[in-house]
Amino acid sequence: MADTEPEGLTDEQWERINSAIREKVKIKPCPLCGSTEERVLINGIVPIPVQLSLAVKDPDGAPVIGLGRAERNLPSVALICQTCGDTSLLNAYALGLSDLVGPSTSAKQKAEEAKKSASVPTETQASHG
Ligand SMILES: [Zn+2]
Repeated sequence: MADTEPEGLTDEQWERINSAIREKVKIKPCPLCGSTEERVLINGIVPIPVQLSLAVKDPDGAPVIGLGRAERNLPSVALICQTCGDTSLLNAYALGLSDLVGPSTSAKQKAEEAKKSASVPTETQASHG
């Protein structure tokens, strides 16, 4: 039993991802090789690193891509063609899996900014009043 159990994700998480894909994705023949074999779902979340700034330049003035830590990640699930390896990355938020992967960084930032902007005017009004 332990040999066939997926590593990493719990059975419940695995089933949530599978059911989201069954619900939202219409599997078609592979666009690259035409295979109609079922695609393999990777048992885990694939974080796609997002670089938010192009301010770092190389000596020629071109933006440097991929240096340093990712400032954000796009949590995704991967479906892979068993014949040619074509890989589809599906955004976990769009699949309705935000309860599994947590709120997006931008959602967290908006919530924090909303808190700050809500408290600042109150204090300002109080000092003028
Ligand atoms: Zn293929």
